[in-house]
Amino acid sequence: MNLERAPEEAPTTIPTTDLGAATDIAPRRAGGCHCGAVRFEAALAPGQPGSRCNCSVCTKTAVTSGMVAPAAFRLLAGEDELRAYEWGAKISRRFFCGRCGVHCFGRGYLEEIGGHYVAVNLNCLDGFDAAAAPVIYWDGRHDNWGAGPRPAPWPVSPA
Ligand SMILES: [Zn+2]
Repeated sequence: MNLERAPEEAPTTIPTTDLGAATDIAPRRAGGCHCGAVRFEAALAPGQPGSRCNCSVCTKTAVTSGMVAPAAFRLLAGEDELRAYEWGAKISRRFFCGRCGVHCFGRGYLEEIGGHYVAVNLNCLDGFDAAAAPVIYWDGRHDNWGAGPRPAPWPVSPA
């Protein structure tokens, strides 16, 4: 399974909207799925909050993501175990472990957040309390990316 985009498409940084409040997310964190088959590491900027989204998939998985540029993410193990899921406009491919089912990360492209990105499931990071991290919210359900993130959840009801 080819997980990498062409190198020329992969920026080293994500120029992005102001991501706001400080956090204790440290650079270069390792993480993985539950059974241990999938391992990865990601460089998360200090001060970077977690992202949540109200779209139909994010609502069901309840993922809090750390958004990083593709160059800031490295899959260390488990490529053969990874399964992928895409839907709708196929903004992103979501990767989960085929053994334990844990959603580990997604790869996507969204102009509004600076192009190619990897959305790391912060709940998968070793020794990191994602529930204690500051969170920003996107209105993915209504394709309202241009509005940017805000500090309160967007509604899941129809626009
Ligand atoms: Zn697993």
